Amino acid sequence: MNYDVIIIGAGPGGIYSAYELKEKRPDLKVAVFDAGSELEKRKCPIDNDKIKTCIGCKSCSIMSGFGGAGAFSDGKYNITNDFGGTLYEHIGKTKAIELMEYVDSINMKNGGEGTKLYSTAGTQLKKVCMQNKLKLLDASVRHLGTDINYVVLQNLYAYLKDTVDFYFMTAVEKIEALDEGFEIKTAKGEYTCKQCIVSVGRSGSKWMETVCEDLKIPAKSNRVDIGVRVELPSVIFSHLTDELYESKIVYRTEKFEDNVRTFCMNPHGIVVNENTNGIITVNGHSYESKEMQTDNTNFALLVAKHFSEPFKDSNGYGESIARLSNMLGGGVIVQRFGDLVRGRRSNEKRIAEGLVTPTLNATPGDLSLVLPKRILDGIMEMIYALDKIAPGTANDDTLLYGVEVKFYNMEVSVDENLETGYKGLYMIGDGSGVTHSLSHASASGVYVARRIAEGN
Ligand SMILES: Cc1cc2nc3c(=O)[nH]c(=O)nc-3n(C[C@H](O)[C@H](O)[C@H](O)COP(=O)(O)OP(=O)(O)OC[C@H]3O[C@@H](n4cnc5c(N)ncnc54)[C@H](O)[C@@H]3O)c2cc1C
Repeated sequence: MNYDVIIIGAGPGGIYSAYELKEKRPDLKVAVFDAGSELEKRKCPIDNDKIKTCIGCKSCSIMSGFGGAGAFSDGKYNITNDFGGTLYEHIGKTKAIELMEYVDSINMKNGGEGTKLYSTAGTQLKKVCMQNKLKLLDASVRHLGTDINYVVLQNLYAYLKDTVDFYFMTAVEKIEALDEGFEIKTAKGEYTCKQCIVSVGRSGSKWMETVCEDLKIPAKSNRVDIGVRVELPSVIFSHLTDELYESKIVYRTEKFEDNVRTFCMNPHGIVVNENTNGIITVNGHSYESKEMQTDNTNFALLVAKHFSEPFKDSNGYGESIARLSNMLGGGVIVQRFGDLVRGRRSNEKRIAEGLVTPTLNATPGDLSLVLPKRILDGIMEMIYALDKIAPGTANDDTLLYGVEVKFYNMEVSVDENLETGYKGLYMIGDGSGVTHSLSHASASGVYVARRIAEGN
């Protein structure tokens, strides 16, 4: 065997697996393979000057490489079982929280000290939300910010690189189960290992489908979240963001009894484009450093869509809606809430005259031509509900960017060790469908590393 353990994917799941293996079993020979580059070499060529759109790099620097999809993210580590994944269903609620707290302590030791930990515990806002048919979910949120998140990743790499073998720009093409252990096939060669941790995240979702098919590992996919990103003056949400930083609020619509929820709140942040396989959707960031902050706050409003038989391609449905917005707007569309309510498209003039200065250069347009009625109605209902706890949310000048799509990986069948039917083959992080957040993905890495260290 070349290695005791091979980890596929250097996102949070892979990094924390490697970290914990080094801590608990420094005697084990460990390698990490990633389709992308090391952190310092991750640079998206879009400069909004010479290169304005995606040129389809062999490996996308935003999604791939050391740090994974979260490398340039806002670095919000939500310590909760209420959202961010279903890790607790496999390992139990207490263990899941304990591991998320452990990950937080590692982040603090590696450059995160001094960043703020927000909490919903004991907040009066919960009652105010309830009184207005809104549910505030419980969480503690460590906000590293894009800048500190990067520093933490740099420090973790420095800690790991001398004892763990990293193979960057080396996508794994196939996993073969041997009589004992596994063979990992790449374009640069084959490597064998006793145990293998697969943590390929969202960007590896299509590849995961082939792995599951090849190895006959059961998997299912039936969910996609679709919505818009809302941008408004930061003062409107300041009573929530100052106390909680990120509030996850759920609203059940009157018309269709769908759940609409806030997602990824960025106080004083910016709205950004996100490129998923050439389709431009919208996302948001915020920075810890004051100089980088804006006068706006942004957050997503998402409606979860679950499909039942016979339809299976939930991600394809989300992609089609995003493609439609790209077709009409050449990318992301922005619309004033007032224009949406009046059934007219936004234009440059009305947006320029408005009180909210957009932080993303998007095409003014009409989101009602893109989003299905049921989803749009739900979003509008929620905006009016939020207006009751944060007056001003439903102002005419509030900006809505579309579309925001949250794709979910298929759920791979794993047991309480996050192990597949193959002894020694673990599937963790977002790629497994068990997690969809930094803290859950990282915690799943620590968990599996400990199982291996204990000689599972
Ligand atoms: C813009 C943005 C902002 C976000 N902000 C937040 C946030 O604030 N808080 C939060 O909780 N979550 C956030 N997320 C989500 C978060 O980044 C992910 O949940 C998390 O990164 C998942 O970790 P992971 O290790 O499972 O997968 P990933 O981070 O996706 O890492 C997977 C790695 O596997 C590699 N890979 C894929 N296929 C292969 C292959 N065949 N061979 C070798 N390597 C492969 C990829 O190159 C990648 O580096 C954000 C995501 C994005 C895109």
